[in-house]
Amino acid sequence: MAHMDQHSHKPKENGAVEHYDVVVIGAGFGGLYALHHLRGMGLSVRVYDGAAGVGGTWWWNRYPGARVDFPGSPFYCYTFSEELVREWDWPETQPDQPSVLAYLEYVADRFDLRRDIQFETWMRDACYDEEAQRWRLETSAGERISAQFLICAVGTLSATHKPDIPGLDTFAGECYHTGRWPHEPVSFAGKRVGVIGTGSSGVQSIPEIAREAAYLTVFQRTPQYSIPVRNRPMDPEVVRQARENWAAIRAKMTASPLGAPFEVSERSAFEDTPEQRQALYEELWQKGGFHILFGSYADILTNKEANRTLADFVRGKIGEIVRDPATAEKLMPDYYLGTKRQLLDDGYYETFNRDNVALVDLRQDPIQEILPEGVRTANSEHLLDMLVLATGFDAITGALLRLNPRGRGGASLEEKWRTRFDSYLGMTVADFPNLFMIHGPGSPSVLFNMPLGAELESAWIGDCVRYLRTHGLGAIEPTPDAEQRWDREVAGIANETLYPLTDSWYTGANIPGKHRQFCVYLGGPDYFRRLAEVAAQGYEGFVFEPEYGQLTEELAS
Ligand code: NAP
Repeated sequence: MAHMDQHSHKPKENGAVEHYDVVVIGAGFGGLYALHHLRGMGLSVRVYDGAAGVGGTWWWNRYPGARVDFPGSPFYCYTFSEELVREWDWPETQPDQPSVLAYLEYVADRFDLRRDIQFETWMRDACYDEEAQRWRLETSAGERISAQFLICAVGTLSATHKPDIPGLDTFAGECYHTGRWPHEPVSFAGKRVGVIGTGSSGVQSIPEIAREAAYLTVFQRTPQYSIPVRNRPMDPEVVRQARENWAAIRAKMTASPLGAPFEVSERSAFEDTPEQRQALYEELWQKGGFHILFGSYADILTNKEANRTLADFVRGKIGEIVRDPATAEKLMPDYYLGTKRQLLDDGYYETFNRDNVALVDLRQDPIQEILPEGVRTANSEHLLDMLVLATGFDAITGALLRLNPRGRGGASLEEKWRTRFDSYLGMTVADFPNLFMIHGPGSPSVLFNMPLGAELESAWIGDCVRYLRTHGLGAIEPTPDAEQRWDREVAGIANETLYPLTDSWYTGANIPGKHRQFCVYLGGPDYFRRLAEVAAQGYEGFVFEPEYGQLTEELAS
């Protein structure tokens, strides 16, 4: 395993247990910062990741066209180190996947993180030992580990969703999931390619694939509203100002609804006339990115009529861009704009004007089965050399459930979350002492700047661990009552918006059989205020155990 030899906690050759203060699962944005921060506190920390390198989501999602679709550079990055901000040059406002991965690799080297990361290692088992007050872990290689604290930085969009379509495994051509894209170059040249799925991954990859493939068939179940991303080279003046005023910019990011220094409108759509609205939407469409959603009117995501004004505008744009009216019609969504993850694209709708691209509307012509030679829909057979599954993820909770830790009394997270994804603060779970989640269900996760959110969450975890250590405490966990209250708080905020009204991966509706629950805390920076309040009140909502943990004979061996 990479870099093991440099580590002070070498794996024991005789199969004995390795002990750490903290084990972190995942070496993406969240896990890397957790390592840096907690190691900086003097704790022994070890990170495990199934990938062969750092990057998490950015390591796996290498499909063509993958790039940042959040308010981009220099804000989608770590904020904790001014030196890092000065050292790293982002080439574009919306960096592509290789650039983000290069950045994370640089961070790993710059802060000497790799010596405490073990790659190509999946965590196979995680079980809390109440007597020892430690997590007992086992890796895919059979190594046994114990840690007082377990941090799951397993990613919100990492458990890929392979659709249950009859015959999928019989397909004889190349077949790739966007979230598990190969490291070797994939050529589309001269091939008939089919893409199933039109979420962010589909919408980013479809224009790229269409440019190279002989023929591209897009299988669309639900049409999407997409906004031009308008990627451009970084403006040196923006970079200079960011570097000179980073502390102030960071403070602004931390206090802003999305975690980015981004103008958010406070006006209602109905304070303007229809003509004024149209003019503003046009201006923000030209500007590109999330501005049209968050910078136009404050009630777009809370008022159905306000939402309709913007949805109509975007549907009008689709009608203008796509030349064939029947295709344009199929591409026009009918749900509340922004309530599925808002897409940003680079020439998505324009792609349907190409002669080598066809759109299949699965609502009218559903897939019946996958054949060795292609896809059979109700009305037709589509012969394909390659199938791209852009079918998304079991989001937010999927990777945690695949790990399926077992807490007090051996109860599994799967059992606990069978009917509700309960958590307290989106970070801790009753009956799972000393377990922390980064970007867990009930945290702002995907609707806040994720690198910044991960930093703030890790800092809170670090403070919590320090509190335990300085008070002679061995374990912390939330009360069921605190979970219920948090659940109501998260749902209460969400229910003031239109988000829960739409089937999306935010609500779990994309995974057959998953129970429906809106799992994102929509209060933005209020979340971090709530975390601070809870800590200031002596970790209100948590119960502690004094430190009595004894290394059992087996663990001590
Ligand atoms: P997604 O948004 O869940 O989209 C999956 C697509 O597959 C949807 O169009 C879905 O249709 C379709 N689908 C799923 N199962 C299907 C089936 N059985 N038959 C036909 N169609 C099916 O997944 P994603 O595009 O991978 O994106 C997930 C999230 O990852 C994004 O929303 C974003 O937050 C993140 N992401 C970020 C970036 C970036 O920052 N650059 C890039 C990619 C992804 P329905 O809509 O009908 O369910």
